Amino acid sequence: MRDENIMGLQETYQSMGISPEVLSYGENILEGLKERFEEIDHIAEYNQLKIIRAMQEAKVSEACLSGTTGYGYNDLGRDTLEEVYARIFGTEDALVRPQITCGTHALALALMSNLRPGDELLSPVGKPYDTLEEVIGIRPSRGSLAEYGITYRQVDLLPDGGFDYEKIKHAIHERTKMVTIQRSKGYQTRPTLSVRAIGELIAFIKGIRPDIICMVDNCYGEFVEKEEPSQAGADMVVGSLIKNPGGGLAPTGGYIAGRRECIENAACRLTSPGLAKEVGASLGMMHSFYQGLFLAPTVTACALKGAIFAANIYERLGFAVIPDGQQQRHDIIQAVTFGTPEGVIAFCKGIQAAAPVDSFVTPEPWDMPGYDSPVIMAAGAFVSGSSIELSADGPIRPPYAVYFQGGLTWAHAKFGILKSLQQLIEEEVVPRRKIILPKEVEKF
Ligand SMILES: *Cc1c(COP(=O)(O)O)cnc(C)c1O
Repeated sequence: MRDENIMGLQETYQSMGISPEVLSYGENILEGLKERFEEIDHIAEYNQLKIIRAMQEAKVSEACLSGTTGYGYNDLGRDTLEEVYARIFGTEDALVRPQITCGTHALALALMSNLRPGDELLSPVGKPYDTLEEVIGIRPSRGSLAEYGITYRQVDLLPDGGFDYEKIKHAIHERTKMVTIQRSKGYQTRPTLSVRAIGELIAFIKGIRPDIICMVDNCYGEFVEKEEPSQAGADMVVGSLIKNPGGGLAPTGGYIAGRRECIENAACRLTSPGLAKEVGASLGMMHSFYQGLFLAPTVTACALKGAIFAANIYERLGFAVIPDGQQQRHDIIQAVTFGTPEGVIAFCKGIQAAAPVDSFVTPEPWDMPGYDSPVIMAAGAFVSGSSIELSADGPIRPPYAVYFQGGLTWAHAKFGILKSLQQLIEEEVVPRRKIILPKEVEKF
């Protein structure tokens, strides 16, 4: 019975373009990942309970799932959801809105609402995410913080990825109002920061000046660990709902969770001074925001399994992978450095071909707004641009690394990664002989 099923699965994979060699290469890698996967399931279980408890304590009711229109006064669903987020992130308050259009918008909102002319923003973890360069004004841009007379200073990470405490100490002065800490590596090949490391950095900064607002760009990090950076001292954590916390169901939106005053500032900027959190119709979004949040720990776990699977496959084939196949995970992103544009493009084609939506299109590099080099993106998503769904992107610039993330289900993540490997073999970026396992060499 069992054997028949396995045969059936292999035939199905083959009918969908995965050769028996690629499949057995993958299965062989998976053999060694059982314990890691168990550990991921354990964290997902913990975070699932955390979310159910927050929903119960906030008294989420059926009425919360329907939305309001117009001004959105007394929107029970919206106000309760913000309480749920605050409970999950262990913060005083939260702003969770469909009117926050994306992660960049949420971050810009947190920065612009809490900084005033003359203040300085410090990044003690090196260059921030590409799109924030224009928000801050590192690259001149209309409406940037720089235009409002808010200055910016940066201290790079040490070559080993650690914090340069000496330089950070010297970079802090009386105008330093806020610190921005990006948890995930984004489009860089530095390590992602653990919640614990972020906590140590914040403690160091607060030790110098306790009133400095510490904001964490939490994109891609939610529910990967048992704790969030807000539980390690951050005054604000910020992210996108079309990444982890939307669970693949939220069709748009962003969140900021943090100290009451910081959230009040952000709300006044998002809507208007005087109106703050009181307005903002939730339209028809609440159902998917709640259900997506409920699913988020499981979805994040599936994405993590995919990332670890990919790391181990490409590491064994000799490509540089960050994090490596064994490392602890602090976000869902997997970087694989192919060293050539062809590698990046072939990988993305494979991911695209595995998608439930738009599988028939061929991704190509393009000049995406907010990025300073052409970017190729593979995504056949139910929510446009969603990167909690199986997706890959890579800027076409050295070292030609692809950033791979997501997967609403583990089976889809696995299929996508196998498809990427198949594509790399078909385009001869990876020689076919490299994936033939020793016992099969004997057979041939
Ligand atoms: C995705 C991301 C952002 C920006 O989010 P968008 O929703 O794409 O605007 C910011 N920082 C990091 C680390 C991210 O991963």
